[in-house]
Amino acid sequence: MKIGPFETDVLMDIAVRPPMVFVEGKGSWLIDQRGKRYLDFIQGWAVNCLGHCPPEIAETIATQARRLISPSAAFFNDAAIGLAQRLTGLSGLERVFLASSGAEANEGAIKLARKWGSLNRDGAWQIVTFVDAFHGRTLATMSASGKAGWDRLFEPKVPGFPKATLNDLDSVRGLIGRETVAIMVEPIQGESGVVMAEDEFLRALRRLCDEHGLLLIFDEVQTGVGRTGRLFAAEHAQVRPDIMTLGKGLGGGVPLSALLASERASCFEHGDQGGTYCGNPLMAAVGSAVLDRVSQPAFLEGVCTRGQQLARRLDELVARHRLAGERGRGLLRALDLGRPCAARVVDCARDLAPEGLLVNAPRPHLLRLMPALNIESDAIDRMVELLDGVLTTTLNQ
Ligand SMILES: *Cc1c(COP(=O)(O)O)cnc(C)c1O
Repeated sequence: MKIGPFETDVLMDIAVRPPMVFVEGKGSWLIDQRGKRYLDFIQGWAVNCLGHCPPEIAETIATQARRLISPSAAFFNDAAIGLAQRLTGLSGLERVFLASSGAEANEGAIKLARKWGSLNRDGAWQIVTFVDAFHGRTLATMSASGKAGWDRLFEPKVPGFPKATLNDLDSVRGLIGRETVAIMVEPIQGESGVVMAEDEFLRALRRLCDEHGLLLIFDEVQTGVGRTGRLFAAEHAQVRPDIMTLGKGLGGGVPLSALLASERASCFEHGDQGGTYCGNPLMAAVGSAVLDRVSQPAFLEGVCTRGQQLARRLDELVARHRLAGERGRGLLRALDLGRPCAARVVDCARDLAPEGLLVNAPRPHLLRLMPALNIESDAIDRMVELLDGVLTTTLNQ
């Protein structure tokens, strides 16, 4: 496909992509090759927690790039230690492994749990995961995921991920056996459509793990780093996992993720885990800059306030257009349209002129909204105005 001067066929055709090429971003706005502006409520899939190209990240990258980029994962560097110190201080988990993507952090969590089972649980190796879960796109994390349709892809799968049903404790209990070493869960299933694990369910999982001597793994790749109005979503339920993974918002847009573990669960031996870019100071410095901003109580308070504003404004749309409802926590929210027209709404919103609106449809009837965590109140009102117009058009077609 030719878009302006760009021949796009050089890229592998891995997804349906709309016919524009983004060339610039600033805050809540993206700009394409024609200069058209788009109000962005996707933000790189909940990645750009401070919006597009925030000055503090641009500055951090420039400064760190002049000092040190990649001394190799085989050596210590000051930026990686600095980020790990922040993460341990903020999470209460004592050990950190830095990586580049959510899938890589989760792959590390799976390896760590299996290693722990081999050392402490007589070789137990199975990890209970959940229907509709999303943990990434490596073979093991795809196998751990419960995404519809994925069960038949890239067979044979990595074995050992029996699937329970979210918020159904008996379904978890029924899968625990001699070979079970851990339970892995997203506090909110993001990719499957902002489906919340109840706080009491997460507490019950903690008790179940303690009872059976299992590790509790929270995949906070999407929910972590302020997205839900707390630094970690686990804080809402006041549950501490043994292992936690972070990604997306941690890098504020650059490839950075982290595997955190309690000292008790942190059992990797030399040679078990690594990676060329793991702990590279360029990304680690960005992670520290992001955390210094996002972990401020006033910043998290702002996420809660904006989340409430967004929820309230979405509720108005629900009432006006007779939609099924809205849900979510903080600035991870979904609007249930109650009918399978989400793809049409996404297209129509994007094609608005002169300014487009970018929203995501993880399900045929559902829109997901994940703006920058420092989004301005006006931008939320503008989004609702644009979406209101789109709903009026599409629902009456
Ligand atoms: C996005 C996501 C992942 C995968 O992260 P990548 O950086 O795309 O590998 C894993 N778990 C959850 C909950 C996610 O939302």
